[in-house]
Amino acid sequence: MSPPILMYHELRLRGRSLCSDKPGYTRYVIDAEDFRSQLKFLREQGASGQGVGTLLERQTPPPAISVRQTPSALVGITFDDGCETDAIAAASALAETGFGATFYVVSGFVGRPGYLNETQIRDLAGHGFEIGSHTASHSYLTGLSEDNLLRELSVSKERLQQMLGRPVVHLSCPGGWWNSEVAAAAKSLGYHSVSTSNLTAAADVDPFCLPRYAVMRNTTADQLFRWLTGRNAWRRRAKNTVLDGVKRVVGIPMYYRLRGRLLGE
Ligand SMILES: [Zn+2]
Repeated sequence: MSPPILMYHELRLRGRSLCSDKPGYTRYVIDAEDFRSQLKFLREQGASGQGVGTLLERQTPPPAISVRQTPSALVGITFDDGCETDAIAAASALAETGFGATFYVVSGFVGRPGYLNETQIRDLAGHGFEIGSHTASHSYLTGLSEDNLLRELSVSKERLQQMLGRPVVHLSCPGGWWNSEVAAAAKSLGYHSVSTSNLTAAADVDPFCLPRYAVMRNTTADQLFRWLTGRNAWRRRAKNTVLDGVKRVVGIPMYYRLRGRLLGE
């Protein structure tokens, strides 16, 4: 079993409004305090949180320790969207536990209200966190022409590299929309990995289709533990296979209407 990778989004801080109050957005938002508790829980379970780059470096050899029903020694921690709470809430909680993480930033959102600015992105990188691309405009990549796909991936990569003065080689797909063209485009532009949010990926690690578990408002400690130990992974994979089939057949808007019903959300 490859190390599980968790996917987080904006964190909720008391008295602070969110980047969006739409239900489809807020169900991915967890309280900053809950995030802190989850990291402590992971550490108590013997897990060590790392960014995707570190995870891939350590992947071979030696393999991650993963005895069935015992949590993986390594767990990937990732954040999508580049919200300001990455810098003002997540980073300090991660530092307290000594965990690393990858922050995937939408380059076109940098400096907007509620999102990271350039200084904050540089500070995160300066503290050892990985900065990845979450595209230039948060477009769903599988619906784009080849030109637009390449533009989303290259413009964001270059803008972030200019900001940081170092290569940006990890990408995550907005909305989890991934296909083999996205993987090929990322590879051709010099990315080293692509994170998705589906769990249908094979047991062998394909760095250009990394599965992630979405930590949501209703995610429990028990659920986190099951993800760490791989228990019930087959059931989630089966559910995601069904959803992936639906995604291909009905297209993006209809998919989201059906998804809620299928997942009972
Ligand atoms: Zn996103």
